Order: sequence, then C-alpha cells, then structure tokens
Amino acid sequence: MFASFEALERDALACTKCPLAETRTQVVFGAGDPDADLMFVGEGPGEQEDLQGIPFVGRAGKLLTTLIEGIGLDRDSVYIANVVKCRPPGNRDPLPLEIESCRPYLEAQVGFIDPKVVVTLGNFATKLLLGTKEGITKLRGQTIPYRDGVLVPTLHPSAVLRNGGTALAQARADFVVAKRALTHA
Ligand code: URA
Repeated sequence: MFASFEALERDALACTKCPLAETRTQVVFGAGDPDADLMFVGEGPGEQEDLQGIPFVGRAGKLLTTLIEGIGLDRDSVYIANVVKCRPPGNRDPLPLEIESCRPYLEAQVGFIDPKVVVTLGNFATKLLLGTKEGITKLRGQTIPYRDGVLVPTLHPSAVLRNGGTALAQARADFVVAKRALTHA
C-alpha cells in the first residue's frame, strides 16, 4: 500500500481523511529510529505535540522519556507513534471514525519498523493493536505474542501522572518487562 516508510510519512502528513485535519496545527507522524526493536504507541497528540509536530513532548512525554531512560535506553533508539496522528480538540478521546481513518498509517508504521517489542500506552493503543475489549488494568505488564514479536501493554503516562504512586511503580515494572522481552527476543 505504501512504497516506503518515507512515502508513508508523506501521505500521512497530507492526510485529510477525517475531521481532525481541519483542527490540527500539524500531523504528528512519529519520531525515533525507524529500525528500532522497541516501539511505543500512545493515543494521540496533545497541545504541545500538535504545536511541535513531535509525539510525547508535553508533561506525559517527559514522563515517557524518563521511563525509557530508566531501562537504559533513549528516545532516539526507539520509535514513538500514536493511534491518531492529529490532535483531538481539547484532548478529548479519539472517536471510532478517527481511529479507523488513521489505522492504516499505524499498521504500516508497525509493518515497516517491524519491532521485536511493542509497548502500548493505555487503552486505545492496547485495544486497537490486540483487537481486544479487555481493559489496560487487566492487561498491563503481560507479554503477549504479537506479529513476529511481543506486545507489552502499560498504563498511559497521563494516567500515571494523574494517579501517581502505585501507577508509577506499575509503569516502571512494565517497562522492565519490556526491556527483558527485548533482551530475550
Ligand atoms: N499523549 C499521547 O498519547 N500521545 C502523545 O503524543 C502525547 C500525549
């Protein structure tokens, strides 16, 4: 469907398939190493991401960066993307139509990057990639077979910021699970 990763990015940056195209400042395609073994998938851009065109650069992004560094990696050596590439106004949840419109871009990203480990951040990414209705509190920290590798669901960094304490400990533990899966892949 897309001839190359570059062609995919070019298409996504010009996308007008759903109404989010009318309210976005810019498309937030993804960032990091397209050859990464570890890929993170969040929900959708927030205000800062929409302004800067880079995923996870706001408050939740700073926490994600800290968690990545906590397992001895850095942002440049992984790949970070979102379920929807354009900011839902006011940071509302993405709508089913928006998720479905954007899905081919995420699926193609995963296809080209072909990571050994995918970490889904929160309910939207987890439910979409696993095709499950099961919630994140049940699934988090598990190592689930996915494509040629595994998927490890964890809490969304925004939820960790909201809930603190136990949620932060859980997220840290899930990142260790992902690191271990990466080492053994
Ligand atoms: N939250 C997300 O899910 N993605 C981002 O890029 C930023 C915040």
